[in-house]
Amino acid sequence: MQYLSTRTPDHRVSLSTALQNGLAPDGGLYVPEHFPDLGPEAFDGCETIEAVAERLLRPFVDGDVLAEALPEICEAMYGFPVPLREIGRQTSVLELFHGPTAAFKDVGARFLADSLARLNEEADRPLTILVATSGDTGAAVASAFWKKPNVEVVVLYPKGKVSDRQERQLTGWSDNVQTVAVRGVFDDCQMLVKEAFQEDTWQERLRLSSANSINIGRLLPQMTYYAYASLQHWRSHGTCPNVIVPSGNLGNGLACLYARECGLPIGEVIFATNENRPVTHYLETGDYEAFETQETLATAMDVGDPSNMERLRHHWSSAEALRDAMGAERVTDDQIERQLRRGPEAWDTVWDPHTATAVEVREHRDPDDEHEWILVATAHPAKFPKGVEPLVGHEVDVPGPLAEVMARSHPVPEVAPSLQAVADVVFEDRTPESKEHT
Ligand SMILES: *Cc1c(COP(=O)(O)O)cnc(C)c1O
Repeated sequence: MQYLSTRTPDHRVSLSTALQNGLAPDGGLYVPEHFPDLGPEAFDGCETIEAVAERLLRPFVDGDVLAEALPEICEAMYGFPVPLREIGRQTSVLELFHGPTAAFKDVGARFLADSLARLNEEADRPLTILVATSGDTGAAVASAFWKKPNVEVVVLYPKGKVSDRQERQLTGWSDNVQTVAVRGVFDDCQMLVKEAFQEDTWQERLRLSSANSINIGRLLPQMTYYAYASLQHWRSHGTCPNVIVPSGNLGNGLACLYARECGLPIGEVIFATNENRPVTHYLETGDYEAFETQETLATAMDVGDPSNMERLRHHWSSAEALRDAMGAERVTDDQIERQLRRGPEAWDTVWDPHTATAVEVREHRDPDDEHEWILVATAHPAKFPKGVEPLVGHEVDVPGPLAEVMARSHPVPEVAPSLQAVADVVFEDRTPESKEHT
């Protein structure tokens, strides 16, 4: 399998190159050149999610240097359950929050971390992954790369602009993961990362790479969620479930569409968004427009110009074609609050603000229609105690892995929002002598 750029379709590269480049040289995003044909029978004998992942991803690594290691990469990527839980009224919840940082981004980050560590085994210098984060991505990337050989991570986050629990998750790492608090906002952090990539001294002293959510290495493994869940449903009901995915940058929802393109038994796919309107606006009008980002209760979905729109429009080249492939519905903060409040009584479940958007969309459909629905739960409610606990009226228990990271939290350097200030901290820790110990 080769990967091509959305902007120059005859620019084709191997999976390893796509993973290491992140973005194509022409600024486009990498997409697979075709989808393999894998109906439910292709998965006979695949019972665990690791086995399903290996079967599904096999054609996507075919011909690449990583192909031989695929079984180990799939093992390393999970190691935690992905329950599909029936909650009544033709509805199930797919819980994607049992990984180390309690949100769905763990699986993509772990696939990428394991792959990049393998690709750099022979390198004479470690690869340094530089990430700016507004919360969840940084924690997932830090956790995934922690203690991996041949790779180092520098995470920049805006001091005072992430939640208390998110901050403790970002600062619970050591060894090859360095966290720096920047006195600024998320956009400052993102700007610093861009500047570092353009700065010769950074490029000379470190082999820089990124682990953005636009990396195809974060998207492909997320298909396995939908393969596993739809097969489970197919095997017990013999039907194709409809799926509702809480969406912001559209990577998770796109992975669901990719899985269906591969032949998995998935019915309608609906992207639930918060009040940010780029997707619903495009489907309604046929004109793509980026909007200014609006802050909502589902913060990880606050995206005004989702990067994966470029992939969607590559595969489905008109709004009409895309409308046939997927639906999208907007959910307001009031609706999110209402679903959080009534979750325990109506569905016997404490939702998080992101998942609540999918619940709202489910309830727009006739509860007694005969289709079966899968709601995707993207985060554990304990990650958002301030938004959730007052509405459900009690504390939410913190899952074990999340508690472990937070318990390791320690003070990290705090710097002004300038590249020099970041460099002082980052390079101080990377003198040649100190590197020999890592
Ligand atoms: C990142 C994230 C989303 C949005 O996923 P996309 O792939 O960007 O659409 C939804 N919920 C949670 C909890 C997230 O962390």
